[in-house]
Amino acid sequence: MNKKISALLSTALSLALLFAGCSAPAANTDFSEDKINIVATTTMLADLSAVIGGERVNVNGLMGPGIDPHLYQASAGDVSLMQKADVVVYNGLHLEGKMGEIFENLSGQGLTVICIEDGMDETQLLASEDDSSVHDPHIWFDVSLWKNAAKIVADGLSKADPEGTTEYQKNLNSYLKELNEADTYIRNRATELTQEQRILVTAHDAFQYFGEAYGFEVRGLQGISTDSEAGTADVSGLANFIVERQIKAIFVESSVPPKTIEALQAAVKSKGFDVAIGGELYSDSLGDANSGASTYILTVKANIDTIVDALK
Ligand SMILES: [Zn+2]
Repeated sequence: MNKKISALLSTALSLALLFAGCSAPAANTDFSEDKINIVATTTMLADLSAVIGGERVNVNGLMGPGIDPHLYQASAGDVSLMQKADVVVYNGLHLEGKMGEIFENLSGQGLTVICIEDGMDETQLLASEDDSSVHDPHIWFDVSLWKNAAKIVADGLSKADPEGTTEYQKNLNSYLKELNEADTYIRNRATELTQEQRILVTAHDAFQYFGEAYGFEVRGLQGISTDSEAGTADVSGLANFIVERQIKAIFVESSVPPKTIEALQAAVKSKGFDVAIGGELYSDSLGDANSGASTYILTVKANIDTIVDALK
């Protein structure tokens, strides 16, 4: 190989490794000797594990706020963190699309693996818009499905730590009440919009469960995974839809770069209609510590506030 090309390739490779390292910060990597150590993949699951586990557990989240789980590549450090844990919690339904093999290898290693997918009632799952053989992984957008997830985590923790069963059950019961309140809050705010105003256009198809549960028509520029590019046909088709339906606002997502939604806004403008960017929704990650949306409950409330305020 030509020396120059070889040097260039080696620089490109080091840069790629550097960026791969940057995209995978582990949020918190403390292990505690006198607690049940949990490693959870997404920010939603880290939050849920901490709420249900309470004082008995120590939770490490692999993906920080704003990280896209569809594209997340586990580092060697992540894998050894999972191997050292007492309990690993993951969503499944191909949400953590690049980590399937890792989870397969984890089972049989003596730790408890809680896969939310395995505990879900299949009749409640939605199919992907573009492939009916695949389920949509974004279950957390329907609070009633997240109540199931809370029960699945409580059951799994009780198996891993039978002595804690009473406490996990107590934490679960009080959290289910909070989730019911959050669900009511979302329903009440949604009633501020007319049925015609309830159209949610976002960067990718994350909001189908939200739409089903709370009566919104949803359109995403990309499919249920961000692991594909939106084509010009998609942009133009969705732009026509926005003009036709006179939609007031479209939304960027916290875990997807804003450029696709900005391109959609420009395409709408070129057709002689102005659509606003209604703000940023938390899609596949909770907000960071200073966002005011650092828990699941705060996040779902922040999302409905953003949606209703922009569309009404
Ligand atoms: Zn997604």
